[in-house]
Amino acid sequence: MNANAVIAIHGGAGTILRASMSVSAETEYHAALNAVLSAGQRLLGDGGSALDAVSEAVRLLEDCALFNAGRGAVYTAAGTHELDAAIMDGRTLDAGAVCCVKRVRNPILAARRVLERSGHVLFTGEGAEAFAAAQGLEFVDNSYFDTDTRYRQWQLARGLQRPMLDHDAATLAARSSGDKDPTPHEPIDPNRKFGTVGAVALDRHGHLAAATSTGGVTNKQVGRVGDSPLIGAGCYADDATCAVSTTGSGEMFIRMVAAYDVAAQMAYRQVSLEEAAYDVVMNRLPKIDGRGGLVAVDARGNVTLPFNTEGMYRGFARLGEAPVTAIYR
Ligand code: ASP
Repeated sequence: MNANAVIAIHGGAGTILRASMSVSAETEYHAALNAVLSAGQRLLGDGGSALDAVSEAVRLLEDCALFNAGRGAVYTAAGTHELDAAIMDGRTLDAGAVCCVKRVRNPILAARRVLERSGHVLFTGEGAEAFAAAQGLEFVDNSYFDTDTRYRQWQLARGLQRPMLDHDAATLAARSSGDKDPTPHEPIDPNRKFGTVGAVALDRHGHLAAATSTGGVTNKQVGRVGDSPLIGAGCYADDATCAVSTTGSGEMFIRMVAAYDVAAQMAYRQVSLEEAAYDVVMNRLPKIDGRGGLVAVDARGNVTLPFNTEGMYRGFARLGEAPVTAIYR
């Protein structure tokens, strides 16, 4: 039995400034991250698999409207929601993903079914929904994902006519609330909600898994797919190296094959998890203006949570220890 079992999660990275956050909002985020980590920790403690731990953690994060995945997802340029998710089992390298789904309540459960019950890896749009329906997964109206705060972020991003990371849209929303100072010092409405989600875990049997789920970026074009559902870009797991879940400007994470690059650097350069993840996030992604971060764990239970933005909602929990959560640098 591996005594180093651990789960790490993120709720998205971006312009998350201490000065823009109310104490009550901060408390709410820490509580949400703690609850998810505790659930994952319990599962791992009971001998559950890393795959079960990451899918349950991400399912809980999807249901929490604080984060940009499932309920609380950002809006597309057409005012709709299109959701992406992926999951990978480090034990077998099996993977499953869905993208551009509009009515599946928990995209991560659809991704898990793709992994377990289809001969394929990635389903898109209508085909993904037909597969999820055949699997008996819960469906909701697209408006189930609506929240007022994301709607306001979308209105602002529309004005600028470009897609935005949801955290950046949130900061913009804070700045635009009659504040002439470009540095946001007004507290963000405590109900404001941001953040793509992900989880990585090492279980007591020594296996790794990773999962990622998102609504994408605010004001994205309909049909746009980011890094989150792409194996190797936003999600990767291999028992031989590590499990990785990313968050940030998806286009750049795709171009850098960011999640796989962490594993590849460990395998080919024989560097530590921390060194590989640091190189991807702090050296390689910034070369093409890639903003964001990742959470990763290796087969020995080392955890790293690097990001190159102002903040990233994040945390990890080891068996028998209190979960650790953080938001800023
Ligand atoms: N990486 C996600 C995407 O590009 C966005 C995020 O992490 O917030 O779809």
